[in-house]
Amino acid sequence: MKYRSMEKINLHKLPKWQQPIVERSIITAEQFIKDKYDIDCFDLVTLKCSNTCRFAKYMIGDGLIRLDLKRNYIKLYERKTLGVYKANIDNVGLETSYTCQLIHELTHFIQDIEDRCFSEVETTKNELQYLKSIGIILDNK
Ligand SMILES: [Zn+2]
Repeated sequence: MKYRSMEKINLHKLPKWQQPIVERSIITAEQFIKDKYDIDCFDLVTLKCSNTCRFAKYMIGDGLIRLDLKRNYIKLYERKTLGVYKANIDNVGLETSYTCQLIHELTHFIQDIEDRCFSEVETTKNELQYLKSIGIILDNK
């Protein structure tokens, strides 16, 4: 395991096939946040994963993140009219979906510890940057 605080990342209730997918997503998202903000977020964040969570969420002040593990598509906020979802990007696969959810919620965590207002502009920007880096969306879009 590359991350340090395994006790804060509880995966043991997940099916065996799913655990490595979540682990890889964690490593990718952690690296993304480290490159961008120079913070080792999983020293501070607790991650709760279950297949019954209906949506991803960051709990303000708790450092607690929940993921929606059933989701294999990506929902992005429309940047001009925040609060309204763009058309989903379907069938990206679970690993990309988990990574995107983590990058989104970890960005809220960064906003929280830096005492900034929660902004879906920043989370969306980071998700788009990640999706471009893996070629899911093209640069000129
Ligand atoms: Zn958000």
